[in-house]
Amino acid sequence: MARYSGPVCRLCRREGVRLYLKGERCFSGKCAIEKRPYPPGEHAQTRRRRRISDYGIQLREKQKLRRTYGLFERQFRRYFVEAARSSGVTGQVLLQLLECRLDNVVWRLGFAASRAGARQLVNHGHFSVNDRAVDIPSYRVQPGDTIAVSESSRSHPAIVAAVGKAGGRRLPAWLQTEADAMRGTVVSLPTREEIDTQVQEELVVEYYSR
Ligand code: SF4
Repeated sequence: MARYSGPVCRLCRREGVRLYLKGERCFSGKCAIEKRPYPPGEHAQTRRRRRISDYGIQLREKQKLRRTYGLFERQFRRYFVEAARSSGVTGQVLLQLLECRLDNVVWRLGFAASRAGARQLVNHGHFSVNDRAVDIPSYRVQPGDTIAVSESSRSHPAIVAAVGKAGGRRLPAWLQTEADAMRGTVVSLPTREEIDTQVQEELVVEYYSR
């Protein structure tokens, strides 16, 4: 499936927050949102800001969340429908479903520099779940699952570089990692407090509930 291939920092500047789309650069002092803290576009700084409607606020929040996880609208909406059908709080279940994607977990465990990088590595068959090769980025992990870098991929330059730089990143409590063994475990499903994604998920729910 085709993916957005334009400049990703532009997406962060459009949403006004860091979406962490560019790997280690996002954690350095070189983040574009710090250097140019205004929306992209030639006249962004001079254009008079219009009052944004409730719909506009909800739309931006939905786009922010969708772009954070690098999904297309159709995929993202499917997650929303599933969350809405569940018995839990829709917004929180939505975040939980997104967090439990294998590509996100690979990134959280520090085996990839970004979610997009993790998606590509998973696609190329560099990971296994419970000792079975899985190459589906949307694969949903469960508590107790063990995610490991495949034996033949332990010297993959992108994975080695990501593991080397991941030390400074905070691992959420719902995951455990054994970086030396290039393995991680899902301890539990993430709670809202354990998900650091900066979004007001209730606005996303309101957007789809219009
Ligand atoms: Fe977003 Fe990362 Fe670019 Fe900063 S460096 S604007 S967080 S993609």
